[in-house]
Amino acid sequence: MSYGAPALFINGTTRTDTRGGADVINPATGDVIGRVPFAAAAELDEAIGAAANAFPAWAKMPAYDRGVILRKAAGLVRERVNDIARILTLEQGKVLAEARGEVLASAEVFEWYAEEGRRNYGRLVPARAGGIRQMVVSEPVGPAVAFTPWNFPAITPARKIGGALAAGCTLVLKAAEETPGTAFELVRAFADAGLPAGVLNLVFGVPSEVSAHLIASPQIRKVSFTGSVAVGKGLVRLCAENLQRTTMELGGHAPVIVCGDFDPEIAGKVAAGGKYRNAGQVCVAPSRFFVHESIFEKFTERFVAYAKGLKVGDGLTEGITMGPLANDRRLQAMDKFVADAEKRGGKVRAGGKRIGNRGFFFEPTVVTDLPDDALLMTSEPFGPVAPIVPFKDLDEVIARANSLSVGLAGYAFTKSTAAAEKLAANLRVGMLGINTLAIANPETPFGGVKESGNGSEGGVEGLQAYLEAKLVAQMG
Ligand code: NAD
Repeated sequence: MSYGAPALFINGTTRTDTRGGADVINPATGDVIGRVPFAAAAELDEAIGAAANAFPAWAKMPAYDRGVILRKAAGLVRERVNDIARILTLEQGKVLAEARGEVLASAEVFEWYAEEGRRNYGRLVPARAGGIRQMVVSEPVGPAVAFTPWNFPAITPARKIGGALAAGCTLVLKAAEETPGTAFELVRAFADAGLPAGVLNLVFGVPSEVSAHLIASPQIRKVSFTGSVAVGKGLVRLCAENLQRTTMELGGHAPVIVCGDFDPEIAGKVAAGGKYRNAGQVCVAPSRFFVHESIFEKFTERFVAYAKGLKVGDGLTEGITMGPLANDRRLQAMDKFVADAEKRGGKVRAGGKRIGNRGFFFEPTVVTDLPDDALLMTSEPFGPVAPIVPFKDLDEVIARANSLSVGLAGYAFTKSTAAAEKLAANLRVGMLGINTLAIANPETPFGGVKESGNGSEGGVEGLQAYLEAKLVAQMG
């Protein structure tokens, strides 16, 4: 299957003949593989109108019936996994096995929400006088808009589509212009599953213009965004005007604390495996490695060996274990991180530079001997560059881990129950993995604290994000 032709999807119909658009680039080659159409202002209004018109009937449809459609769409995504995964790798770069896993995980998200939507229970609150019933019911908040980035072109839209539709909200999705094909395939699966027109709409355009236009509409009652902290803050400011509810899943810089009682070989291998997944372009990637001084060298050697053993290349090629970066902005960012590290006395123990000049490949890189205020220790790298630093004492390292303004994911490796409890109680993050990196499942909340955002996707919280409470007090 070739790359295909992503389109807008508004009120149940696809649109391609819109005002201009942008090229879609294969990051493994730098070649243009397709075109993404941009929505004109009138089409954005049409999408808002379609979502608003479809809302009353969709909100009133029994959750069971909404679930049937969600499950059917999930089934179609599963059936089409090989084609969708190929599109994903072509436009984003990650290795095909990772793309396949992501597409299947997206189907699982739809299946999970299909069931969770049926558990939107209300409650009865005892009244202060006889003859009164106080009922609390959860109702869908209204038409929503969602903005998703290029690093996970399937699972991020899936979380937003699943939560919104299961709760009874309609949605206008603006997926990333760099990876439009995957989002289009997800939306197509819903159309083929019999989703009523207007319930799910897909648009593309200049991100700042589209978001400003959509959020300016008072018909939109909820805004969900995944992306950088700076953009998230700007969107929340826009939402102040109409007081839309927000879910903001923003950046992180996940600390990994490896205690002296843990096997450095296992920790080094597992941590490096997590770090280089999707070439490090993961918001919950383990990315600041604090290792107890007693095992520092052994851990670092194992980590470096893993980095050097990765086979970097086109994600569609058999045997490749790390693909290119998704765009040339990330290449430039990696150069900046390495240059700053070297200036600050850091030692590059593996990698450090771009590979070739075709496509956006960067060497899996490891840097040691860095001060805590080096750029790599304070800013999310969002790429395959890993800083490893030593620590002496648990209290000291918790303070260092908590010192940034973000708090999305965190990880720790220890055999001590007391240390695990202390870490769980004191690390300021939204998700903590102890002796595991597996923290993202459909049934558990996914979100951050501090400037990593607000709200969660996944878990019961992911459904609640699209619901609001209504009290009905009834006498007699
Ligand atoms: P960026 O911050 O401009 O864009 C990030 C995403 O937000 C893109 O998908 C973009 O289309 C979208 N976006 C940008 N401005 C927007 C706006 N005004 N309204 C709506 N959507 C908007 O820059 P970038 O170069 O793509 O990424 C830079 C940084 O963003 C990365 O280094 C990383 O820290 C962060 N990022 C985080 C995630 C995440 O999963 N949390 C995903 C992608 C990027």
